[in-house]
Amino acid sequence: MNEFELIRRYFRFAALPGGDLALGVGDDCALFNLPPGEQLAVTTDTFVSGVHFVADGDAFLIGRRALRANLSDIAAMGATPLGFQLAIALPEFNEQWLERFSAGLADDALRFACPLSGGDTTRGPLTITVTLLGAVRAGEALCRNGAREGDLVYVTGTLGDSSGGLYCLQQQGVADGYLSERYWLPEPRLAVGSALRGLASAALDISDGLVQDLGHIAQASGLNAVIECNALPLSSQLIAAVGEEQARRWALSGGEDYELCFTVPPERRATVEQALADLGVGVTAIGRMTGKGTGVVRCVDGMGNPVLIERGGYDHFA
Ligand code: ADP
Ligand code: MG
Repeated sequence: MNEFELIRRYFRFAALPGGDLALGVGDDCALFNLPPGEQLAVTTDTFVSGVHFVADGDAFLIGRRALRANLSDIAAMGATPLGFQLAIALPEFNEQWLERFSAGLADDALRFACPLSGGDTTRGPLTITVTLLGAVRAGEALCRNGAREGDLVYVTGTLGDSSGGLYCLQQQGVADGYLSERYWLPEPRLAVGSALRGLASAALDISDGLVQDLGHIAQASGLNAVIECNALPLSSQLIAAVGEEQARRWALSGGEDYELCFTVPPERRATVEQALADLGVGVTAIGRMTGKGTGVVRCVDGMGNPVLIERGGYDHFA
């Protein structure tokens, strides 16, 4: 098996009919048709074995998780996926592993209408880099710097589940099916992101923990933010597994939930909640943007009293 046979066998997913990928795997570059009036949205994430996923994890899930993390970034911009590039370093040729990996990726490529357009294949410690290309109407992307004082802060879904899933897998070797799925297969909130275009003032996806990520919106917008701890959406499964206190801690600072966090001017509250009502995704108002500031995020209890939190969030070089 040489490099080119390997690529042909495992990474040549047929382009999806009717998509914007004009030329896929096999030439020097892929070619996309960019719909008129749209901007290209590009994002890259790298996943290193032993850092971002357990080395003996199921290959059927590893690739999907990498793809979904990137799709989540596209969702957070309010963009629509066009296709993705895959750069992969493999320690060895392992047919079984590659079969599973490729099958998982092909599944999700179809599910999210996001074909594999090309990439690079090398030998080395298992590392997966996905670059996702998306399109968004010019000027309508949801950026981090648009929040205003008084805007409400919302999140989608429930928070902390991914940390809970990973913890249970590490401690007990098993996680309740729900938590383990939340860790391995986060749901990119593409429909929510699209619906928020023109409505949300700022948005991002929560990859490093709510406090740290909301801090990015606050800092980019020249504001601070306050979170009401009692409003945090927690799943019953997470509370059952680790108790409410730990669940809340992970909701604030656990990473990799890939839910969206976005800000909404108060006068658009009803419009936004209506626009999102039919999408089947829970959204919860958890706080608001305050004063001029430098990105400080505070937490308060139901009485408005300060709650001490670790800033938390993952930092590779901290
Ligand atoms: P080049 O040397 O011209 O960069 P490569 O030999 O690296 O080309 O790759 C040949 C073709 O296979 C290219 O179209 C490239 O995009 C594609 N390719 C390589 N590795 C992958 C991969 N892991 N997944 C998808 N496509 C890949
Ligand atoms: Mg190459």
